[in-house]
Amino acid sequence: MKPPRLTVIIPREEIDRAVRQLAAIMSEQFSGKEPHFLVVMNGAFIFAADFLRAFQPECTISFIDVKSYSGINKGELQINTTFPDVRNRHVIVVEDIVDSGETLAKLLSVLHELNTASVTSIALLNKQVPHVADADMYALEVPNVFVVGYGLDMDGRYRNLPDICQLELSL
Ligand code: 5GP
Ligand code: MG
Repeated sequence: MKPPRLTVIIPREEIDRAVRQLAAIMSEQFSGKEPHFLVVMNGAFIFAADFLRAFQPECTISFIDVKSYSGINKGELQINTTFPDVRNRHVIVVEDIVDSGETLAKLLSVLHELNTASVTSIALLNKQVPHVADADMYALEVPNVFVVGYGLDMDGRYRNLPDICQLELSL
């Protein structure tokens, strides 16, 4: 099998601008509210690292483990996490990409039971397909292709690419 083809679709400078802009808007919205960020691992780790360093209000952060892909094929959704105590907290879920929206829908339904003060969701990427649940805010849009880089993987690879790239398997 030939190696997959990688094409840059969002260069690093554009990612940086979009992430900072989202952080500025959220900083204003959550000023004085001390939100709790729930970062969905693993895909959101680079987005979260950049976003959170540009987010100014005081906040707390924890990480939750959700997986739904095997290779480029979607598998069963798994939430491998005990949620932290977020009672009466303003919770902000941080996702890498919303595709079908099933991961987000599942997470939001779990959070709904935890007596939070509010739940907001943000994602780095909005894939241009119909979603069953939508994030409240996105940094960037991508077409309906499989993307890697800036934290997103295929079977653990390519997370370290600084740009967001389309990945195509060549047979
Ligand atoms: P959803 O449940 O919205 O269909 O999928 C959400 C999860 O699937 C994302 O958090 C992400 O981990 C993974 N995913 C969806 N689309 C892509 C993609 O194009 N590339 C990569 N690397 N992961 C994706
Ligand atoms: Mg993933």
